[in-house]
Amino acid sequence: MSKILIIGAGGVSRVATKKCAMNSEVFTSITLASRTKSKCDLIAKEIEDELGIKIDTAKVDADNVEELVELIGRVEPDLVLNVALPYQDLTIMDACSACKVHYVDTANYEHPDEAKFEYKLQWQRDEDFKKAGVMALLGSGFDPGVTNVFCAYAQQYLFDEINYIDILDCNAGDHGYAFATNFNPEINLREVSAKGRYWEDGKWIETEPMEIKMVWNYPKVGPKDSYLLYHEEMESLVKNIKGLKRIRFFMTFGESYLTHMKCLENVGMLGIEPVEHNGTKIVPIEFLKTLLPDPATLGPRTKGKTNIGCVISGLKDGKAKKVYIYNVCDHEACYKETKAQAVSYTTGVPAMIGSKLILEGKWSGKGVFNMEQFDAKPFMEELNKQGLPWEIIEMEPSESFEVK
Ligand code: NDP
Repeated sequence: MSKILIIGAGGVSRVATKKCAMNSEVFTSITLASRTKSKCDLIAKEIEDELGIKIDTAKVDADNVEELVELIGRVEPDLVLNVALPYQDLTIMDACSACKVHYVDTANYEHPDEAKFEYKLQWQRDEDFKKAGVMALLGSGFDPGVTNVFCAYAQQYLFDEINYIDILDCNAGDHGYAFATNFNPEINLREVSAKGRYWEDGKWIETEPMEIKMVWNYPKVGPKDSYLLYHEEMESLVKNIKGLKRIRFFMTFGESYLTHMKCLENVGMLGIEPVEHNGTKIVPIEFLKTLLPDPATLGPRTKGKTNIGCVISGLKDGKAKKVYIYNVCDHEACYKETKAQAVSYTTGVPAMIGSKLILEGKWSGKGVFNMEQFDAKPFMEELNKQGLPWEIIEMEPSESFEVK
């Protein structure tokens, strides 16, 4: 008997909520709350019509700790799953530690006025969670999330020492629009227009945005232009993976996406500072979000696959070893199952799995944790059962999926 309270009612929430309902032996009571209650009601109705599982709904402003505490007090959940936006991470964490309830999210805290994400303020809440006797699991999406678990699995079961990790995120989906983002446009554009960064020999090396490009030949997808970005899972992996000499993150982007983004950036549309327009203050990137297609509407139009995984090399029994662990997901299959495209699916499923493992007591602790701090095996097993099967290629140490 476990109660979950899910906060946020966007694309990721749609998948996570449905997957919780499909695991109703663990999630015996589900409440979905968000800023716009009608969006919760819509998701709840679809799930009830299809699976016969009742989902309670509520309205909440997750920027407001008091409102959250009141809601948590009323619902009395065992765990709160935060699939709202990264801006709400701290308020929801504070409400959870105050109410002594477990917390799970999928993205690093970010302040709305500063395009910078880091774990510092979330890790600082470790004592609060310890005192409350509950746990916070950070970044239980795909990347961060499954990518951390792939690295943990390699460290725990495949290698004696890991030296190099390349996280490769390929979305080869085509939605037919000249320009749209696959998840919240504001968060997505802030992430990809920022400077790149990777970690080598104990220090961070900064690059200009999109300065480093490589072509990776993604299994079951093919060769794609991939750009080095800073991505949040690297911050915890450099702490928790022993022997690491370098970790990088690459994401695929098409020509059209990059040209549009550069142009929008050049004219100031990615700005996060308010500007005066006809006597009204507007934040350019928020206005742009209003103009762009809602990522939730891309589902029925998107065709193609995603491939996200990690190429990991190091030592086993004194010999060089290299593996590629990845998941391939098909946009149309995801839509058929959940009415959401693969980017929401690959995030919503691990969000449910992280919550499930905590509620089942398979992942337990007091304080604030990242994914790689737990035994990877139960999570890897759940991925295979819950719709995100993974594959592993044993590579020759000299072999590479890079296309020169
Ligand atoms: P959406 O923009 O589709 O949905 C966000 C939801 O949060 C909306 O329902 C929104 O409400 C709600 N919300 C926003 N502000 C508040 C607030 N103050 N109070 C209550 N509810 C609020 O985003 P996605 O579903 O695409 O993404 C959800 C999360 O998943 C984000 O944090 C994103 O960064 C993360 N993510 C993680 C990935 C990973 O692999 N780890 C990959 C992709 C996304 P309203 O409907 O009223 O606007």
